Amino acid sequence: MRDIVRPHIIHQTGSGSSCSAWLDTWCDVGPLAHIASYRDIRLAGFTQSSKVNDSVHHSGWKWPISWMHKYQILNVIQLPSISSDDDKIRWRDVEGNLRYFSVGIAWHTIRPQANIVAWCLVIWFAQCIPFYVFVTWLLVKEELKTHGKVKDWENRCGIPLVCSFCKQQPDSHTHLFFDYSFSQRVWSRILQCTDVPSNVQDLKDFVRYISPMAHRGLDNIVVAKLIFSASVYFIWIKRNNHCFKGKLRSVDKIMI
Ligand SMILES: [Zn+2]
Repeated sequence: MRDIVRPHIIHQTGSGSSCSAWLDTWCDVGPLAHIASYRDIRLAGFTQSSKVNDSVHHSGWKWPISWMHKYQILNVIQLPSISSDDDKIRWRDVEGNLRYFSVGIAWHTIRPQANIVAWCLVIWFAQCIPFYVFVTWLLVKEELKTHGKVKDWENRCGIPLVCSFCKQQPDSHTHLFFDYSFSQRVWSRILQCTDVPSNVQDLKDFVRYISPMAHRGLDNIVVAKLIFSASVYFIWIKRNNHCFKGKLRSVDKIMI
């Protein structure tokens, strides 16, 4: 993590007495140890533990003038104004602003970021139930461990994977949640008790239908999203119970 985190840790010099002249980022060009060689640092009379205030005096730098020719990038560094204040450490966020460190800001800075997907507010919303939406999130990303996802296991073990309901083909996200007759009966019962139109037949239809209004906090939208995620969760649980424990659950039980 150090290589990821280090560029965001910025030292604002006050007295310059606690800030490493070579290892800390206190100027725009980064740690000077990446620019000047340790041999030159030692030859100039500094040590590895020299601080920023050891490298400046009131009128300029203490390092040799020859460095300005040898390491020309040093010419762009502004001489820090040494004061009696403490040196401060700040976190540089994604916009380049220096901020007080917090775990939240640090995570927002270094986490992978991508464009917002259409289903974002369909799956994640303030009233969502984490158990349910986690499974629904895996469904939209097609990351549930259905047979289609564990084909390697089948190849290694030599045991054919077949859907535990219809016994005709390996199960998959589409087959389990939308093609399979049990799921279709669950969905048709759901459509009867929500405002979702009857032409919504699968996940893509549902996301397409609900996305334009997913940001609204209207009761019927929130309820539709809650019912959708709960249905996905219970279909997945039913599949696993059937697959691994041999337990069956009726559509009526699921709907309760
Ligand atoms: Zn099946």
